[in-house]
Amino acid sequence: MSKKGKKEAEHKIEEFFADIKGKTPKEVRKIKKLAMSYNIKLKEKRKAFCKKCLTPFIIPKIRIKKGMKIIICDKCGAVSRWRMKD
Ligand SMILES: [Zn+2]
Repeated sequence: MSKKGKKEAEHKIEEFFADIKGKTPKEVRKIKKLAMSYNIKLKEKRKAFCKKCLTPFIIPKIRIKKGMKIIICDKCGAVSRWRMKD
């Protein structure tokens, strides 16, 4: 895979996540695959969608507990926990 290809992939991923709320789980799966094939880490971007059903969080239920941010997916009910930066 070329270096140029990776840059293009990164750009595509950035654009995708800039408008994540309008995306479908199918599209999220595709962009995840793209990122993986170029070994691009999604990092913070992974928090924009449910890790289980891949639905973008539109109006997520967020709870803060003991320094953890807890997001509940309103589609499948999966709970995502993220450590908050202090
Ligand atoms: Zn879900």
